[in-house]
Amino acid sequence: MEQSALALHGTPVVPGIGYGPVIRPVARPVIPAEGTSIPDTAREAEVGRFEDAAKAVAERLRDRASRTAGAAGEVLQATAVLAEDRAWRGAAATKIRSGTDAVGATVAATDRFAALFEKMGGLQAERVTDLRDIRDRVIAELQGEPEPGLEMPGEPSVLLAADLAPADTAGLDPSLIVALATSLGGPTSHTAIIARQLGIPCVVAVAGLDDVPTGTAVLVDGASGRIVIAPDGTQAAAEVERDRVERERVAGWVGPGATLDGHPVEILANVQDGAGARAARQTPAQGIGLFRTELCFLDRDTEPTVVEQADIYAEVFETFAGRKVVLRTLDAGSDKPLRFANHPEEANPALGVRGIRITASAPGVLDRQLDAVAEAASRTGAHPWVMAPMVATVSEAAEFAVKVRERGLSPGAMIEVPSAALLADRILEHLDFLSIGTNDLAQYTMAADRMSPQLAALTDPWQPAVLDLVACAARAGAEVGKPVGVCGEAAADPLLACVLAGMRVTSLSCAASAITFVGARLASVSIDQCRSAAEAVLQTADPAAARAAALRYLGGPVERNS
Ligand code: PEP
Ligand code: MG
Repeated sequence: MEQSALALHGTPVVPGIGYGPVIRPVARPVIPAEGTSIPDTAREAEVGRFEDAAKAVAERLRDRASRTAGAAGEVLQATAVLAEDRAWRGAAATKIRSGTDAVGATVAATDRFAALFEKMGGLQAERVTDLRDIRDRVIAELQGEPEPGLEMPGEPSVLLAADLAPADTAGLDPSLIVALATSLGGPTSHTAIIARQLGIPCVVAVAGLDDVPTGTAVLVDGASGRIVIAPDGTQAAAEVERDRVERERVAGWVGPGATLDGHPVEILANVQDGAGARAARQTPAQGIGLFRTELCFLDRDTEPTVVEQADIYAEVFETFAGRKVVLRTLDAGSDKPLRFANHPEEANPALGVRGIRITASAPGVLDRQLDAVAEAASRTGAHPWVMAPMVATVSEAAEFAVKVRERGLSPGAMIEVPSAALLADRILEHLDFLSIGTNDLAQYTMAADRMSPQLAALTDPWQPAVLDLVACAARAGAEVGKPVGVCGEAAADPLLACVLAGMRVTSLSCAASAITFVGARLASVSIDQCRSAAEAVLQTADPAAARAAALRYLGGPVERNS
């Protein structure tokens, strides 16, 4: 793509290229700054009007949920539940009874709950979009207007929006909506979840997107996060065609993971709950390489009981019955604080009490979680592997291993801290396996916040220092014949995945959307090519040289992430 056209950048969520004119969702109702007051005598009838509107919206969403399969249906169902939420409806009714009209009360109740969700952060904060969607639908219903949202275009188009409501995204037709980009949202927002399910190239959190006029032709690259405004039409068409050929090629990959000459490398999925596991089960993933359990409990004030936890874990184990499932114990803290496990204030939370370190500050949380894992395992007949996050010392690994083995489970550790990579051989004396978390390993090796867009070049997993530590941990496993996988984002980069295989990692675990890209790329090269690429990469001085070295040995299709 020629570089003179204006390009915006965001967080890539679903790989693929889409090109077409911009469309935007139909305007939502104007939200009044404050409600209109209503007389005493009209208030009960107004409560009734609000209740009827909320009910009509919930029913319509439920109806659409019943006609929509998979994760999209689950999202619509969850949004309908939100429309029926007793606390939210109660807050609106109370406001009406104090003299505000139904529209004003809907707005006030939504603002109150949105503020609450935002304070909770994480997944809960991402539900604010869903709540505002409900508000808009209820207000349109109260005003007798048609439901706000998306009108399907007459030609293949690129959908741009601030954020998309689940009810809008769930019904998208991938032959008409060829790409999606939002200025808000995160990789776990509903927009991202549904785009992934539908296979629509998607980029979120794009700065400057709101200024792109409707009708302008844009190209969205869901692998790199690049959005090119008004590109050269011929070049854009060539990129789209290359992408189509590549997608067709990878879609034919059905696993299991292996190089061209049959060297096996397991291809696994990263998930965060039962719905994620069910989505991953639709791909050729051979199992789950990272179940991020803390993401199930970000909205909890109190610790979930052993039974509550066991129910959630069992859902994931059942979905992958008879296959490998690697569960990570709570990685509470830093960007994923859990109110029941972490102290509210830390000067430097990424270097604070997170991961395995909560065992000292929140005694019993790990024991109860391991009890729940053991309970879920015995209920489902699963044999999960259980690993601790943020291990930095041999003694942390040893103590964790004792607790896990006591419960008849198989212990392992994440390698995310440079000290753990350097001591991988000694850590492995106590454990059955390791899994390298390149996201944190890059952050801690390079002393660069993984959330900072300005420092993204430093937290690039192609940094040779990071790859040196990866190689060190992989070597430790290979020497004693114990599995060492990679479950950070590095494993989702098809070219880097081949380099990792060359470093002797035994599994690659990534988002479900990346599985076929990684599997197909690995299947296109020999293990000797991977080993030569790994050796060459480890001699380089910077990420660009590392990528170039890898390409020299691995060649092949156009790199999606370069
Ligand atoms: C990692 O750090 O690479 C990892 C997989 O863990 P998380 O991204 O959940 O911190
Ligand atoms: Mg991590």
